[in-house]
Amino acid sequence: MNKSAFAPSPGAGSLFVIVAPSGAGKTSLVRAMMNERPAVELSISCTTRAPRPGESDGRDYWFIDRAEFEQRRDAGEFLEWAEVHGNLYGTSRQWIASRIAAGKDIVLEIDWQGAVQVQQLFPDAIGVFIAPPSMETLRERLERRGQDSDEVIERRMTAARGELDQAHRFQYVIINQEFATALQQLICLVDSAGLRFEKQQAREPNLFDRLFPRQHAGRGSR
Ligand code: 5GP
Repeated sequence: MNKSAFAPSPGAGSLFVIVAPSGAGKTSLVRAMMNERPAVELSISCTTRAPRPGESDGRDYWFIDRAEFEQRRDAGEFLEWAEVHGNLYGTSRQWIASRIAAGKDIVLEIDWQGAVQVQQLFPDAIGVFIAPPSMETLRERLERRGQDSDEVIERRMTAARGELDQAHRFQYVIINQEFATALQQLICLVDSAGLRFEKQQAREPNLFDRLFPRQHAGRGSR
């Protein structure tokens, strides 16, 4: 499959790429948004990281070992991949291509390096950076989560500083100070992406023919 397989078509869904330092609340926000907007689909990544308590295979990630990851990566199965905190993570190329072709709205919850790769392949992708209100809050959240050792928390704090430096690469920033507010902002982004000219045109071709015959004919996909 080559890059042209991903050329956006007017009827294609929107692709949201959501990036945040761990502990910023990204997973909870995305899950809550998907409860409110059930048509949106989440890409499940492959990772070499061990499952955390409560995580399950196929729901949170596809948990695979390093040898399998490297073999699938070398076979070109990943649209993007990155090493984060010493573990490998990758997004299935085939899944994304098929869901996009089916016109679905898709969310990728990935790190900034992967997001940059995706934004190059899909210039229409909507990049959203979720930030914590402060570094202190981030540390409190990581500690409260109780899933990681002190050493891992320190590593994630250092990584978080590096990740915050990358926020400027994304079109949108949501500051997750108050969960309900951040959730409304994320839902608002998802809804407004669906109102783009081409999305509405694909949904209502006859209405567009009648109302905007000249623009309708002249406007390419974007
Ligand atoms: P965690 O281990 O805390 O679930 O995730 C660590 C980081 O890896 C997070 O920033 C998460 O978004 C990112 N990540 C998860 N899946 C992927 C993926 O498929 N590709 C990339 N590049 N990053 C990912």
